[in-house]
Amino acid sequence: MFETTIAGSLPRPDWLAEPEKLKGGWKLSGDELKQGQRRACREWLEHQEAAGIDILTDGEVYRRHFVHSFLHGIRGIDQNKKTVMGIRDNRYNLEVPTVTAAVSRPAPVFLDDFKYTRSLTDKPLKITLPGPMTICDTIADEYYGSRPAMAMAFAELLNEEARELEAAGADVVQFDEPAFNVFMDDVNEWGIDTLNRAVQGLQCTKAVHICYGYGIDENNRWKETLGDEWRQYEEIFPALNKSDIDQVSLECASSHVPLSVMRHLSDKQLMVGCVAVTPDRVETPEEVAATIREAMQYVDAERILPCTNCGMTPIPYDVALAKLQALGKGAALARNGL
Ligand code: ZN
Repeated sequence: MFETTIAGSLPRPDWLAEPEKLKGGWKLSGDELKQGQRRACREWLEHQEAAGIDILTDGEVYRRHFVHSFLHGIRGIDQNKKTVMGIRDNRYNLEVPTVTAAVSRPAPVFLDDFKYTRSLTDKPLKITLPGPMTICDTIADEYYGSRPAMAMAFAELLNEEARELEAAGADVVQFDEPAFNVFMDDVNEWGIDTLNRAVQGLQCTKAVHICYGYGIDENNRWKETLGDEWRQYEEIFPALNKSDIDQVSLECASSHVPLSVMRHLSDKQLMVGCVAVTPDRVETPEEVAATIREAMQYVDAERILPCTNCGMTPIPYDVALAKLQALGKGAALARNGL
């Protein structure tokens, strides 16, 4: 009951990468970098186990960015051809690489690192991949001329990658789709179809993480424009409830999401965000337990997985560790209270 997990990323230690930055550069290179990433992964697995987290992740410490690290393994993308693009419906501008030919995946992207991570623990392990729609909102297109077509092409590649990760022992494959909270019409028209294509044939648990983004300034300013009640999930959950996905996340800690939106996911498990990913304060275990109890007003207890709101890459290492510990303790409190 109340199996705990995290959305995905954890801070990379300051000896490995520039801290508290989304795409902070590596401080090591070559084999030292590989060994450093592995050490960071080992340490986070130990921290997660000690904190009572049930479904572990590698903390994405092998990656610089949750989308671009995957795209670096994909052919058909000109990494040197930069296009300025308004990301997440023009919330912020980024220079991004450009798709200039049909995309293909010449080799597995995350498999070697995942096999190493898998060798370190017998506990359930989750691996995260960027979702097809979010990829298409993070890269420029000069080839497909249609977002749904490009997303479907990426979904096929993601599916190949996911099947290999499953065969290597992934218990949960999670697709990160923050774009789902921005392009709600597109989600219903083609986003769910491309997500279903990405998970096609998988026997492991299939999850999707949707969110309002990391706690960075651009996102925080955007959140201020969303009003008192964030009801975006409501527009996409009915379709997601009919999808092939098993688990859906939503951020419940310090957000303006009315938890009643969970009613639209009656057939799914819910990753309930019980800790925010802003660094200003650490939730208490009692607050975590209170969020779980609030979710229980709308979801049967056995469908609730206490989780973080989002990835924790941009916050200080110690704060993220304290939030993990609060999450584990809070879930234990909620269990004891049943
Ligand atoms: Zn997120």
